[in-house]
Amino acid sequence: MRDLAAELARRRAGDRYRTRRVLEGPQAPRQTVDGRPLLAFCSNDYLGLAHHPRLVTALKRGADRYGVGAGAAHLVNGHSRAHHALEEELAAFTGRERALLFSTGYMANLGVAQALLGRRDHLLQDRLNHASLIDAAAACGARLRRYRHGDEGDLARRLGALEGDEREILVSTDGVFSMDGDLAPLPALAAHAAAAGAWLMVDDAHGLGVLGATGAGSLEHLGLDARQVPILMGTLGKALGTAGAFVAGSEALIETLIQSARTYIYTTAMPAAVAEAAREALRVVADEPGRRHRLQAHVRRFRAGAAQLGLALMPSRTPIQPVLVGEAGRAVELSRRLLEAGFLVPAIRPPTVPEGGARLRVTLSAAHHEDEVDRLLEVLGELHP
Ligand SMILES: *Cc1c(COP(=O)(O)O)cnc(C)c1O
Repeated sequence: MRDLAAELARRRAGDRYRTRRVLEGPQAPRQTVDGRPLLAFCSNDYLGLAHHPRLVTALKRGADRYGVGAGAAHLVNGHSRAHHALEEELAAFTGRERALLFSTGYMANLGVAQALLGRRDHLLQDRLNHASLIDAAAACGARLRRYRHGDEGDLARRLGALEGDEREILVSTDGVFSMDGDLAPLPALAAHAAAAGAWLMVDDAHGLGVLGATGAGSLEHLGLDARQVPILMGTLGKALGTAGAFVAGSEALIETLIQSARTYIYTTAMPAAVAEAAREALRVVADEPGRRHRLQAHVRRFRAGAAQLGLALMPSRTPIQPVLVGEAGRAVELSRRLLEAGFLVPAIRPPTVPEGGARLRVTLSAAHHEDEVDRLLEVLGELHP
């Protein structure tokens, strides 16, 4: 048996110990954590929808109509009118034939790989992909190869090496990288995947709702259609402020997932009331474009201020604005001092990021006020990460 206590002690000594904080109220920039008021710069609630009154009302109305639990998997009798309508609206929002709900993004990523690939098929991924995409390789048993981050040439070489191989190939990438905030070079990846007869899957957890003229995400931002990117995964728990996820694509893709994605088939449907709240989130995204614009203005303001302070920013134009620190212990120390000053900014350490790449992961939200962005910059200026 493993000595768990000793392993945990080693982890603690190496500044790798993960702990939780207890949040007393809604997800919002001004929050009460472990009983004290803090200004949070770490949420993925980019548009401030997680506590939007319209979503709260939609959730309550949904609960009045559908109750609380879905009570069964989608394929048994858990698939309600609310789920069905949300799928149709997500398909329309993303410009695809159909969409299919999953209970989490993690499960959606596992389900796609497992439904499309078997042993000895090929899975090519960006080295910095989200853990759920990486874990999908184990779920399907395919051969995983990771190309250099954002490096279309490296992908092309690896696809070239598979020429003549009759097995299926799936290329998957984050649209916006969750720890760096940069965009994948999707037009080039799409061209290489198409030339090699490979599927391309984009996980747009951090782009959906944030990027693009209507908030439809990275693909809209970069002008890519459903033919170029046949598989799109989006999550509902980030910019859309609710919970769950979906895969959007062709009729045949969605039917294949319904028939064989194990993380779709063998799990209880998300509550229908949550689906109603997500439907309302889509309406708010359409009705309140000012949220996206305010968010982009915060990004510009933060970057300009951080550049003036000489902080080590990364090439990100998205609400994910990491400040590179380097060493894990130093990042933890800075995060602790920010906390003392009333700011919640997490330190991200290995193994989540590469050795020597520890950082403060600042995320911005439309729910922040301009002066709150300024206050963060002020304290960062004093701490000098
Ligand atoms: C958050 C995230 C997921 C997982 O989505 P959940 O719905 O939270 O399970 C998948 N991919 C990326 C890139 C993410 O950031």
